[in-house]
Amino acid sequence: MDHFLYRDGRLFAEDVPVHEIAVAVGTPFYLYSTATLVRHFRLFDEALSWGPHLVCYAMKAASNQAILKTLAAEGAGMDVVSGGEYARARAAGVPGERIVFSGVGKTAEEIRAALEGGLRQFNVESEPELRVISQVATSLGVTAPITVRVNPDVDAKTHAKIATGKSENKFGIPIARARDVYAEAARLPGIKVVGIDVHIGSQLTQLEPFELAYTRVAELTEALRADGHEITRLDLGGGLGIPYARSNEAPPLPTDYGALIRRTVGHLGCEIEIEPGRLIVGNAGLLVSRVIYVKQGEGRDFLILDGAMNDLIRPAMYEAHHDIVPVIEPAPGQELAPYDIVGPVCESGDTFAKGRPMPPLAAGDLVAFRSAGAYGAVMASEYNTRPLVPEVLVRGDQFSVIRKRPTFDDMINRDTIPEWL
Ligand SMILES: *Cc1c(COP(=O)(O)O)cnc(C)c1O
Repeated sequence: MDHFLYRDGRLFAEDVPVHEIAVAVGTPFYLYSTATLVRHFRLFDEALSWGPHLVCYAMKAASNQAILKTLAAEGAGMDVVSGGEYARARAAGVPGERIVFSGVGKTAEEIRAALEGGLRQFNVESEPELRVISQVATSLGVTAPITVRVNPDVDAKTHAKIATGKSENKFGIPIARARDVYAEAARLPGIKVVGIDVHIGSQLTQLEPFELAYTRVAELTEALRADGHEITRLDLGGGLGIPYARSNEAPPLPTDYGALIRRTVGHLGCEIEIEPGRLIVGNAGLLVSRVIYVKQGEGRDFLILDGAMNDLIRPAMYEAHHDIVPVIEPAPGQELAPYDIVGPVCESGDTFAKGRPMPPLAAGDLVAFRSAGAYGAVMASEYNTRPLVPEVLVRGDQFSVIRKRPTFDDMINRDTIPEWL
């Protein structure tokens, strides 16, 4: 459930009419609902309430400071994958002990910054990384808490670009080699093993791959304990999928996911961490855009929007589906006609949907892309010198621009001219 509903024939974000925000802010823009963000965080928190746990929001899904602060106020931890994200989390007031640092390519500088600023743990993805963490921690005279991210070799049954748990993926250490790596970690100075980490992919629409992966993690926990390691934390990653097409998708619920975790690893007495990103913010965000032209084509009509692939790249990059709805509710029984829905960018890949049945629309009408909150704004660019898409947050009957649209001058003045020109 989200908080974007029609009332009296107009789309609202909580208690604010979407068209009013469009008039105030201009289009396109991302629009997030505080109530939906908070609701989704609490669903996960409650699903794990049977034991000690921390829900670490995977902030790469949407990392605006206002979103981070909203979730941090609920008690969320953060899963960060870069020095920049670490800095963002700290700037939003998240304490170091609630930050886990993931990612396959952490640099020595990023490791140093996190150790100096404080963190909960590094999720280590390779032996060379483990050695660098040991060196940096030793040089600072501190101990780095770590888990090793294991690759359980399970098929997440998701889009190839976001599957991470098969042995051919670049992520993690093959589970068969994990005991050797833990043995090395135990020998290295400046390293303290605290647990095991796993993350098998994103937009999972079935529980079975999680079940397989977590069962393997449970077996590994027993084996590592038998080897003398203290395993007190299990970081089980993110990846629970969301319904992108309302009409025909029903991915598993966080409560069932929480029950699955309890069933597979609950008996081990570990503190549980999870790293959901998409499910927290995906359906908490819309991309609002305006129709510029309706163009009659050969055998098909085009809706040309002022939003484009640079604002929302998921359709071009992952063949992703987004429901696209008019901001003025269509009359009941309204006839639909197929449109190709496209942006103005000079690439054929700038296509959001082909042959999508839509009610009649005219230039100037507003539409909203649903489920656009995750991997939307964060992946936006200024391709075609289109200003970076702004973001707006609603709470009840209030709204606030949380990232403003740059002016043309802002964009141009970010370039610097060499003195020879
Ligand atoms: C991307 C990512 C997540 C979040 O995945 P979602 O599908 O957005 O829940 C969590 N952990 C790691 C390590 C990731 O790379």
